[in-house]
Amino acid sequence: MNERERAKSGGLLDPTVSVGRIAGVRIGFNWSWAIVFALIVWSLAASYFPSRYPFLTDGAYIVMAVYAAILFFGSLLLHELGHAIQARREGMQIDGITLWLFGGVARFKAMFPNAGAEFRIALAGPLVTLVLSATFAAVAALVPTSLALHGVLAWVAYVNLLLLVFNLIPALPLDGGRVLRSLLWRAKGNFGWATAIAANIGRGFGYLLIGGGVLLFVFVGAFTGVWFAVVGLFLVNAAETERRYAVARAALEGLRVGDLMVRNPVTTHPDQTIAAFMDESAGASRHALYPVVRDGELIGVLPFGRVAHIPRDEWPHRGVSECMLPPDELPVLSEDDALADALAELGEADRLRGVVLRNGRVAGLVSLTDIERVLAERPTSRPAAPRQDPRAQAS
Ligand SMILES: [Zn+2]
Repeated sequence: MNERERAKSGGLLDPTVSVGRIAGVRIGFNWSWAIVFALIVWSLAASYFPSRYPFLTDGAYIVMAVYAAILFFGSLLLHELGHAIQARREGMQIDGITLWLFGGVARFKAMFPNAGAEFRIALAGPLVTLVLSATFAAVAALVPTSLALHGVLAWVAYVNLLLLVFNLIPALPLDGGRVLRSLLWRAKGNFGWATAIAANIGRGFGYLLIGGGVLLFVFVGAFTGVWFAVVGLFLVNAAETERRYAVARAALEGLRVGDLMVRNPVTTHPDQTIAAFMDESAGASRHALYPVVRDGELIGVLPFGRVAHIPRDEWPHRGVSECMLPPDELPVLSEDDALADALAELGEADRLRGVVLRNGRVAGLVSLTDIERVLAERPTSRPAAPRQDPRAQAS
């Protein structure tokens, strides 16, 4: 999986707890991960281990289940680290790894540079899982241990194998779907076409899981069916996000943030009062957002909506600094970023605007509506389509 799936996850992928870095990659957990952890511990301790290893105590089953769940999530983390480390070797920037409801996600800052890179990055994760599965299986089979430890190792080997097989199904956004997309992309040199095929398979597979899950739940009464349906729903959504991203990318081909941004936006100062801001900044030109700058450096952003409701008689006593948002509330972009990546980043953060920096200083603002306007005017990928005049839009 990669970053693009975040758009549809509604914040489920935002790391709730950051736990530091492994090999320089930021690792985080989302709260939804705790649900899965609890479900795994519960199902292992209550039914899986007792049915396979009778005559152990209830306490032993719980300890086994906790160890097994920890090893499984460690395996997921290493799988994603495989993607992330390979991505870094391909020269891609990595946002970090988050464990959430459906496992792990390595988040990349931009688009795969080429088909070969995507192929290698997509395969790196399953390769790690293969090694893990084989290692756990070998230790379980060859090293004499207690029955309880054997049970834990055997289950972790088995679940890694399941993960490997599931991940290699050629359906976007699964790793197998990325492998397929990269091969098609390589064969025809057309990213959009390759994505459409892999995403359609992803959608079909998602519907299959939903249908199968519902049948399983209705006719067998198996709760697993509900889980299948939820995973299927996620896959359908994620495949659709991938498809839309590819369409947008084709339409925005060749355009960079610098082509579309509104240059030299009106800024404000943190020490200004709201009264002075209204007179000097907002009075001269009304915008939706004002970068807050001190000595040329961006220290916050002031959406006009945050001051609009303050009663007039309070303006002289309220400062810009108390109304502004920290700069990391908005996506920070650079002029050379592909517009398609900016679109993904804005959509993903659910923000209407991004700040464009040049050497740490505010160079411009770019808005989602401006990008969407270009998309509406350039429905095809024909590079001959006219360029948008970067000064034509107000923010
Ligand atoms: Zn993967």
